[in-house]
Amino acid sequence: MSAAPLLAVRDLRKIFPARRRGAPGVRAVDGVSFDIARGQTFGLVGESGCGKTTTGRMVLRLMEPTSGTIRFEDRDLMALSPAQLRAFRRDAQIVFQDPMSSLNPRMSVGELIMEPLVVHRIGTTRERRQRLARLFDLVGLQPTSATRFPHEFSGGQRQRIAIARALALEPKLIVCDEAVSALDVSIQAQILNLLGDLRDELGLTYLFISHDLGVVRHLSDRVAVMYLGEIVEVASKRELFETPRHPYTQVLMRAIPRIADGRRHFETIAGDVPSPSAPPPGCRFHTRCPHAMEVCRKVAPKMTSVGETHQAACHLLTEPAEAATV
Ligand code: SF4
Repeated sequence: MSAAPLLAVRDLRKIFPARRRGAPGVRAVDGVSFDIARGQTFGLVGESGCGKTTTGRMVLRLMEPTSGTIRFEDRDLMALSPAQLRAFRRDAQIVFQDPMSSLNPRMSVGELIMEPLVVHRIGTTRERRQRLARLFDLVGLQPTSATRFPHEFSGGQRQRIAIARALALEPKLIVCDEAVSALDVSIQAQILNLLGDLRDELGLTYLFISHDLGVVRHLSDRVAVMYLGEIVEVASKRELFETPRHPYTQVLMRAIPRIADGRRHFETIAGDVPSPSAPPPGCRFHTRCPHAMEVCRKVAPKMTSVGETHQAACHLLTEPAEAATV
C-alpha cells in the first residue's frame, strides 16, 4: 500500500461574495483536487487570476475554503483545534513574491528570522542564535547580516532572508507563491537552485506557484495547470513538457521565452481571461481556444487519463462520438 500523501486536496472551492447585492459571487477556485507526496515539488501554474494563489492560501489555512477538504499528514485541516492549528503553523510556511512587503522594515534581519521562534516560544536565546547561524549558512547569507535591515539588501538576498525565516520552524511544507517572479533571470536561477538544494538536504515538500511554466519546470516533480479556477491538466514534469495535451497548456508552452539567433522569442497568449464571476459555460477555455468545437460551448469536459500519471480535461481527448454529442 502506498504511503498517504503529505497533502491531499479534494474538490476545493472558494467563492467570494459579490460586492453588489444579487450579483454572482467570484468563483476563484472551483473544485480543485490534487495530492503532494512527501519530498515532492508540486507546481501550480496559470495566468494571473486563475486561482492558484487563493489555493495556496487555503492550503495553509490563511483563507477559509467555501467547501472541500484539505488533509495534511492525513488529518483534516478544517477540523483542527486551536492548539492543533498552532502546531500546523509550524509545519507549513509560505515564501511570498515580494519580500520587501512581507518583511517588517523596522526589524533587523536577525530579529526577522528569529521572530517565528520567539512567537512559538522555541529554544533559549542561545539556542535561537545557534539556529540563526545555521539558517544563515543554509541560505548563503553572511552572519554579519544579522544586524542589518532588509532595505540594505538586494532583491535576491532579501528572498534568501525570507526563505531563512520560513525555514526557522523546520517546516515540512513550504508554499512558494511567485517566489522568484520579481527577480532578474540570473538571480531567479540562484534562488531556484537554493530551493532545490534545501528540499534535498532538509526533505522539504513544496507547493510551487507561478505564472511562468519555464520557472515551474526548473523545480517541479509534478505540475498542474489552472485556468479560471479549475485544474485543466496535471502530469509528471516530463509528461507535461514532452506531451502537453490540453490546448491551454500548449499555449502556455509557446509563451515560454526561448533564445534563438541571439534574440528572445515567445508568443503572447491571445485574448483576456473571462471574469471568474461569470465563467463561460461548457469548457471555460472555449472563448480563447483555437480548437473550440460546438460541444465545447455547452458541455464541460471531464478529467481524463491520457497517460500513466497524466490527466487532462478536453473534449479532444475523449472518444470522437462523445465529443460530437451536444
Ligand atoms: Fe478547446 Fe474544447 Fe478542449 Fe476546451 S474542450 S480546450 S474549448 S477543444
